[in-house]
Amino acid sequence: APSIVWLRRDLRLADHPALCAALAGGGAVIPVFIHDESVEGLGAAPKWRLGLSLASLARDLAECGSRLILRRGAALDVLRALVAETGAGAVHWSRLYDPQSIARDKAVKSALRETGVDAQSHPGHVMFEPWTVETKTGGFYRVYSPMWRAVKDRDVAVPLTAPAQIPAPKVWPASDRLDDWQMGAAMHRGADVCLPYQRVGEAAAMERLHAFADGAIAQYQDARNFPAVDATSALSENLTYGEISPRQCWHAGQRALHGGAKGAETWLKELVWREFAYHLMYHTPHILSGNWRTDWDAFPWSTDADHPEVMAWKQGRTGEPFVDAAMREMYVTGKMHNRARMIVASYLTKHLMTHWKIGLDWFAECLTDWDPASNAMGWQWAAGCGPDAAPYFRVFNPETQLDKFDRGGAYTRRWIAEGQRTPPATALDYFKAVPRAWQLDPSMLYPGRIVDLSQGRQRALNAYEAREF
Ligand code: FAD
Repeated sequence: APSIVWLRRDLRLADHPALCAALAGGGAVIPVFIHDESVEGLGAAPKWRLGLSLASLARDLAECGSRLILRRGAALDVLRALVAETGAGAVHWSRLYDPQSIARDKAVKSALRETGVDAQSHPGHVMFEPWTVETKTGGFYRVYSPMWRAVKDRDVAVPLTAPAQIPAPKVWPASDRLDDWQMGAAMHRGADVCLPYQRVGEAAAMERLHAFADGAIAQYQDARNFPAVDATSALSENLTYGEISPRQCWHAGQRALHGGAKGAETWLKELVWREFAYHLMYHTPHILSGNWRTDWDAFPWSTDADHPEVMAWKQGRTGEPFVDAAMREMYVTGKMHNRARMIVASYLTKHLMTHWKIGLDWFAECLTDWDPASNAMGWQWAAGCGPDAAPYFRVFNPETQLDKFDRGGAYTRRWIAEGQRTPPATALDYFKAVPRAWQLDPSMLYPGRIVDLSQGRQRALNAYEAREF
């Protein structure tokens, strides 16, 4: 009987345990992607980027003699219908770790099994599943460094190879057309501006991984903090849709390290930050929606998402060049350098004393590498209420950060057009991308500071000190 592979955030053919299990069944394999409420709930940029990934995977599957079947509806209904139509005896998928996916997948598994279908979930989205790493006293790590020490010498299995051919069923079940799903419908800034900045699909991701592991990884430790320098892997968009696996990254990083690339260990550590985020989301799912440390619940964050200061933050018009460059970079490219993410998050939650949820939601709308676990951990870290967080009293000063990490102004010039006689295309792209309702154009004056840095800092510190633990 055929086997169904239900694809979600594992849009690749190599190192795919669920796909391998389906192939091992010996019959035809039917790859399916379901547009269910989890896709419905995505922000504009991640949804659009997911569409690009699906198109790429469909092409790769076609080269193996297979197809990507697209269906819309509740996952269980769709899978039941597909089982009935195709006579499939098994359904395989890669596990996800957010509470909604866990609840859905559990229900799907037991309902399918009740009807005699062999429903199986598999690892693949993380290297170390959340229940496989425990502290000495039991339980999960709430602090990163000991978790790193606990996993760094573990054997990570060698990635599985991609199948050359995937056996097709005699008759393919019907499929929706990807174009009809209009995955870019909410992407008002349009594909044309953002598209050139995306690296889509498995082949492109692997090529980038190898180029990075043979080159820039050696200087990663020193160069990764400079947002104008192309010093990081830029693989987050590929990892988030599973166009590449963390295991493939891990092995490439290990090879570089053993080949003498000193910076590689720092990069391997970043991969484990991603794992740490997943463990936290699995064990403390409230990290997605509320203060991880609940003693922060009384903190007087502003929750006005439409406040003019918040709008200025979103639009990159705060008068703080590092913040503004970063917000525009995200709007145009769908990504933002990690140092810049820390700075804009600190600025919003501290200088503007605005709830981190407002920032988290805007990132979820705009990032093509949006990842529920890393985004939530990043925001709560910056705000001070998360696990292993930056202490609240340590407020990033965007001006001194600029002096340290963008001294020549290469990053701010790349993204801020105002005041430049001949702004670069990147800075002008921003004005092509923004909604007309924002009424922005490059001939405007660059704004003055919306908040005095030392006053903003002091206001946040006063609130912090007045807080009762
Ligand atoms: P590299 O420096 O090459 O690192 C390799 C990989 O390690 C990354 O691709 C990523 O998967 C992982 N990684 C690196 N840093 C972190 C980190 N701090 N936390 C978790 N994983 C990490 N990352 C996302 O993938 N999606 C998000 O939605 C996201 N939101 C964030 C929000 C805030 C407020 C902050 C401070 C960080 C956020 N990050 C997020 C983490 C980090 O900024 C990005 O993963 C990184 O900038 C991606 O660039 P890269 O692929 O070149 O990373």
